[in-house]
Amino acid sequence: MEIAKAGFVRNSAAQGGKAEGKTEETQDIRLDNSLVLIVEDEPAIAQILEGYLTRDGFRTVRAGDGETALQHHALLKPDIVLLDVRLPKLDGFGVLGRLRQAGSTPIIMVTAVADDIDRLSGLRLGADDYVVKPFNPQEVVARVRAVLRRTQGDRAETIRRFGTLEVDFNSYTVFVSSDERRIALPLTLSEFRILAYMIRHPTQAFSRADILDACLPESDALVRTVDTHISNLRRKLEEIGQAGFFPAVRGIGYRFSDPR
Ligand code: CA
Repeated sequence: MEIAKAGFVRNSAAQGGKAEGKTEETQDIRLDNSLVLIVEDEPAIAQILEGYLTRDGFRTVRAGDGETALQHHALLKPDIVLLDVRLPKLDGFGVLGRLRQAGSTPIIMVTAVADDIDRLSGLRLGADDYVVKPFNPQEVVARVRAVLRRTQGDRAETIRRFGTLEVDFNSYTVFVSSDERRIALPLTLSEFRILAYMIRHPTQAFSRADILDACLPESDALVRTVDTHISNLRRKLEEIGQAGFFPAVRGIGYRFSDPR
């Protein structure tokens, strides 16, 4: 409970000092709100990790055994997995193997067992990093950030292209290429965040609350604000002949998709 409280305090402090915190916050926009899947069968340890990670701006989801971890991974598409080795049902190595077959989600293994450390230290098994119990939770958070930075850099080279759109996460700019022109879209930071977030999950339908949570967590805005941002995004795209990127999804909210 202390942990949850600590996260809460940090949020209110952040509101007080918004202007100061802004630069750092925007610099790490790519990592903000990343979803961390914590796979850990000891609730006390999971809770500590969750507390430190959420306090640092990450979103978290927990799984207490290997099978649940696979289900959560398939359904929730976390950005990174913290994976304990000794788990019920399917152990961490089993989960690692299955996740590697499924894709390239970054994985940090967690263990207290010397034999595991030997196996992991080569990292030939496909994990991106590993930490040893007992750990310093702040160190774990730092590793999560480092691995995310590294792997996102590898994968996207800080640029993501989608149809005629090109999102540059370094300069927070969205370019549109059409008729041999390359135009920078004049977006606000909120609009950029929404587009940058949704473009990473091009087929997924998001509720307004999802979008608000992921893109504007520090604001007290109402979910209706999302409608305004989306309609501004649509208008700015339409003005340069790019209509249809943000279709409404009836009863849910919005989706990002390539209109062509
Ligand atoms: Ca364990």
